[in-house]
Amino acid sequence: MTANSGRHFLQIPGPTNVPDRVLRAISAPTIDHRGPDFAELALDVLQRVKPVFGTSGPVVIYPSSGTGAWEAALVNTLSPGDRVLAFETGHFATLWRDMAEGLGLVVDFVPGDWRRGVDPAVVAERLAADEQHSIAAVMVVHNETSTGVVSRVPEIRAAIDEADHPALLLVDTISSLASIDYRHDEWGVDVTVSCSQKGLMLPPGLGFNAISEKALAAAAGSRLPKSYWDWAPILEANELGSYPYTPPTNLLYGLREALALLEGEGLPNVFARHTRHAEATRAAVRGWGLEVLCADEREYSSSLTAVLLGDEHDANKVRQIILDRFDMSLGTGLGKLAGRVFRIGHLGDFNDLTLAGTLAGVQMGLELAGVPIDPTGTQAALEVLRA
Ligand SMILES: *Cc1c(COP(=O)(O)O)cnc(C)c1O
Repeated sequence: MTANSGRHFLQIPGPTNVPDRVLRAISAPTIDHRGPDFAELALDVLQRVKPVFGTSGPVVIYPSSGTGAWEAALVNTLSPGDRVLAFETGHFATLWRDMAEGLGLVVDFVPGDWRRGVDPAVVAERLAADEQHSIAAVMVVHNETSTGVVSRVPEIRAAIDEADHPALLLVDTISSLASIDYRHDEWGVDVTVSCSQKGLMLPPGLGFNAISEKALAAAAGSRLPKSYWDWAPILEANELGSYPYTPPTNLLYGLREALALLEGEGLPNVFARHTRHAEATRAAVRGWGLEVLCADEREYSSSLTAVLLGDEHDANKVRQIILDRFDMSLGTGLGKLAGRVFRIGHLGDFNDLTLAGTLAGVQMGLELAGVPIDPTGTQAALEVLRA
């Protein structure tokens, strides 16, 4: 790398690029979190974040990573020894499973090949077989960030209803919220988990739980130990715009600004923009003669694309060359996919020319790494963008 002039291209699927407007908002002075100005800020963002989840119910905002919000969803609704149904869709689903086991839950983990989402037919089958209703929750990662595969939550909901099963539906939307269409209330989700540093275009540091009435009722009887993550004191304090501990004030300034950006563009337009950029990215990958990891076209992710390289090429070497030569970060292969895939993040604060620059960098990096590709790949993407 000669000189770092110009902007670094942060094209990993989270953390994503933070818009200047949001950075400026975050830089405002921190205020007294027990004073009237803070209450106004908190009440405003707690209300305005709801449409992003597609809910009219409560949304809890923690000072935490997404992992904290995962834990909150489990400890608030479940009890030691409860059975939960989870699916091996990729690295993040596996980590959430590990957490559930660590907390003392019994996980039925349905194996997967890391190229497909949750199969609604398997949900129906597993729940129909559970005549005693011993499965307390179904855990689904909406957009598997390690693979670029989206599970079809409405069909999973329909499968639960078809089995007439009372299990809670817990969904991780960490890399889909504000990028891919999602509807907490309409889809009958009980807890939606998310965080700040992906589609919401904020730095890391905020974790979210959107909570259904059924989840709130389950919380009343849940016996897993909890303190920091306990919904009850936060929901009570939030009524008056306060927190039971020091809130992440500056990130909430950023959230207010990010929500204004999303409201200005309109969520349907935000989703359409992500869909279009994902289509263009897949056109490039196919044009290069490479393979998109996602194996089912109904499950393509609009927020990232995982690109599969043949065994003879090391995806991390390609990433390293791209970082050194073009100052661009791409996502690495996680877990089982280490060295075999790289991931292109195309979510958040992102436009046509950001994508064009990203794909140009990827194409040159592949060529420099000696991966045989057809150089018309990027052209194919530009045609999608121009159309
Ligand atoms: C990033 C991510 C996580 C982890 O979030 P952290 O903020 O790193 O704790 C969990 N699930 C998915 C789907 C993710 O993309």
